[in-house]
Amino acid sequence: LVRLRARLSRSQNALGKGLLTLLSREHLDEDTWEEIEETLLTADVGVQPTQELVERLREHVKVLGTRTPEELRGLLRAELLTLIGPDMDRTVKTEPEASKPGIVMVVGVNGTGKTTTTGKLARVLVADGRTVVLGAADTFRAAAADQLQTWGERVGAYTVRGPEAGDPASVAFDAVKEGKEMGSDVVLIDTAGRLHTKTGLMDELGKVKRVVEKHAPLDEILLVLDATTGQNGLVQARVFAEVVDITGIVLTKLDGTAKGGIVIAVQRELGVPVKLVGLGEGPDDLAPFEPEAFVDALIG
Ligand code: GDP
Repeated sequence: LVRLRARLSRSQNALGKGLLTLLSREHLDEDTWEEIEETLLTADVGVQPTQELVERLREHVKVLGTRTPEELRGLLRAELLTLIGPDMDRTVKTEPEASKPGIVMVVGVNGTGKTTTTGKLARVLVADGRTVVLGAADTFRAAAADQLQTWGERVGAYTVRGPEAGDPASVAFDAVKEGKEMGSDVVLIDTAGRLHTKTGLMDELGKVKRVVEKHAPLDEILLVLDATTGQNGLVQARVFAEVVDITGIVLTKLDGTAKGGIVIAVQRELGVPVKLVGLGEGPDDLAPFEPEAFVDALIG
C-alpha cells in the first residue's frame, strides 16, 4: 500500500490533487466546474461517473458555504470512495472444496499482462501456503507457455502445457485434471486474447470455459486490463463481458499511468469489482485493490 501510494503520487497530475487544487479556488465559478469535469474525464473516470461526481460536489459545496482545505479533502475523499464502491467484495475466490481445487481463469487481450498476472498471482498463493497448478492455455502466442512455465519454476507451481498451437481447451482440461489428481489447492488458467475476430474469441474462450466446467465450476474469471490503454480498455472489457461472465478485474500497469480514474469507469461498465492491481513487472508487484488506500494515493 505504501508502494501503491508512492507510485501513484509520483505522477505530477494525480487526479485527486488536481481536483483539490481546483476545489480550493476562492470562486468556484462555471469555468472552474468545467475544469473539474475535464480533469475527471482526462483521468478516464468516464462521462456518467464524472457527471455524478461533479453534481454531488456542487451540492456539497453549496451546503458547506465556507470551505477549509480539510473539509474539501474529506468531501472529495468521501465522494471518490462512494464512486469506487468501498463495500464491493474484492476477494479472489480460490478456496478449494473437498473434491476440487479452486479454479481461476485469466482472460484479456494479449499484451495487457495476463501471463505476468497469472504468475504473480501464483506467487501470492504459494507464499500463502497453497499448492498451485498453472494451465498454459494461451497456445496461440508462441512464447506464452514458456513464459508461464518460467513463472511456475520461479514461484514453485507446476505448469501443464500442450503442443504449440494446440487446442487451448484441452490444455485447460488437462490442467484441472492434473490439479485434481495432485490434490492441488488452486488451478490458474492463462488464456489467449485475440480480439481481431470476436466470434473466434467467443468460440475459444467459451469452449475453454465449457470444457473446464466438465470437471467442476469455475470460481473466478478475472479480466486483465491495461490501465494505460484508457477508453480502449473499456471497449475490450465490453467484448469480453459478452463472451464470459467476468467475476473480477485486474488492472495492470497502474504504475505507468496517472489515469487511475479507469478503475471507476471499468467497474461501472461491467458492474464487477477491480480485485487486484499490477504495479510493475516484478513478482511482488501485484496487490489487492483497496479503495481507501487508492483514494488516499490519488488525493495525495
Ligand atoms: P499477455 O500477453 O497478456 O500475457 O501479457 P504479458 O504478461 O506478457 O505482459 C506484457 C508486458 O507487460 C510484459 O513486458 C510485462 O512485464 C508487462 N507488465 C505486466 N504487468 C505489468 C504491470 O503491472 N506494470 C508494468 N509496468 N508492466 C507490466
